[in-house]
Amino acid sequence: MEVHARRDGRPIGVVAAADADAVDRAARAAHDALPGWRATSPAARAAAIGRYARLLEQFSDLIAERVADEVGKPLPEAHAEVARAIDVVHHFAGEAARLWSAHLPAESLVTGSTVRPDPVGVVAAITPWNFPVALVLWKLAPALAAGCTVIVKPAQEAPLAAWTLVDIAQQAGLPPGVVNIVTGDGPTVGEALSTHPLVAKVAFTGSRRVAEQIAGWAAPRLKHLSLELGGHGALVVLPDADLDVAVDVAISQGYVNTGQACYAVNRVLLTPDVVEPFLERFRVRFAELKPGVMTTDRGLARHVMLLDEARNAGALVDGGEVTDGRWVHPALVTGAGPGVRLVDEEPFTPIVAVMAVPDVDAAVAEANRPDYGLVNYVCGEDLRACLETAGRLQSGTVAINGWRVVVPHAPYGGWRGSGLGTELGRPGLEAFCRWQHLRVLR
Ligand code: NAD
Repeated sequence: MEVHARRDGRPIGVVAAADADAVDRAARAAHDALPGWRATSPAARAAAIGRYARLLEQFSDLIAERVADEVGKPLPEAHAEVARAIDVVHHFAGEAARLWSAHLPAESLVTGSTVRPDPVGVVAAITPWNFPVALVLWKLAPALAAGCTVIVKPAQEAPLAAWTLVDIAQQAGLPPGVVNIVTGDGPTVGEALSTHPLVAKVAFTGSRRVAEQIAGWAAPRLKHLSLELGGHGALVVLPDADLDVAVDVAISQGYVNTGQACYAVNRVLLTPDVVEPFLERFRVRFAELKPGVMTTDRGLARHVMLLDEARNAGALVDGGEVTDGRWVHPALVTGAGPGVRLVDEEPFTPIVAVMAVPDVDAAVAEANRPDYGLVNYVCGEDLRACLETAGRLQSGTVAINGWRVVVPHAPYGGWRGSGLGTELGRPGLEAFCRWQHLRVLR
């Protein structure tokens, strides 16, 4: 399969279109490597993953260039993605060393219980194109720390950066078969991985539609499964909020990665008295925004469709134009409510809807209305009120008075329709473990 630069269509590489036989070879390689990797000491695993992190740093310019080419994102944004993803690898190098057994209180001199972690086995990591480095490393690093071996299946739109990550893993001295990659068409490779008897866990990030297919294959085979799916982020602006902070959150997270981010702010919920002052400030920042590249043609078509549908429903749309076929301007939508698709379904394009709600209770109800629960945002000066509001939001993450939501040491995962399971943090490591209770009875 030829890979093209998203901005100008120039060919930038060729990857294999794997079939079920290629997946089988990768699964066997990963399975053969499992006993050796599983038997390494926590300290040896930590050292190997640490070496990997340092080599990734040395190659970070190359990786970022690949991301920028494949996805069409600006090079500084690609650099930022790569740098933050490498922090995750450093973090899990440390976690590998801390993955110890727990000795439960002894009941007598000779009897008692020890609980020890064991790697779940071969992991298939199936990832999307929007953050093609971060979403691979969020799975690869904790899986390696837990002692699993991994087969990476990147999105067909962005396989080159992922391929580079796997290549660097070999150069860092990770034993053959510990980190593998299969590239190719999603349904063919995805099904072969999700049904393969030697694959113990499927760690997936992507759309709900594909997640349901993968779950349909994995569930009857009793495979471990994690599903990180889309979001429909709401920003709840409390009546006492600093509106400059709220605008910064809405602009920064509404249009991040040209809206192609699962943690994007899609709805801003305001009580009627602050709508106008908020919009006045918002429009100043909005006017400075530049168009961005949509990575896929289907995303581009969806952007146009969502805005047309909102206009037909009587909403007002500012911006949102498409230029040169691939570039879209950010859009601000006012006057859209439930029943309009862009406030009901994840847009995954640069659209922010500003919605007036009677009070904070109504804002919480609207935030929780669509069947998503990944990341929500709250702005307000009274921290206690912010925390109380956050506690009523049905999402795995709530950011208060800011927008940098992801850190390596805290769990990240969707509630409700946004997925199953958790990545990052301690739970993101334990997600690659199964537990053995050693019970000494006499
Ligand atoms: P997608 O579901 O189309 O593809 C994701 C991966 O699945 C790709 O590797 C693809 O090749 C593969 N795939 C496609 N069809 C398949 C099939 N039938 N069987 C098995 N595998 C298949 O998603 P996308 O368009 O690449 O990504 C966008 C989605 O990802 C959005 O919904 C977004 O919100 C979500 N996302 C979630 C997070 C998160 O952490 N929760 C992060 C980023 C993106």
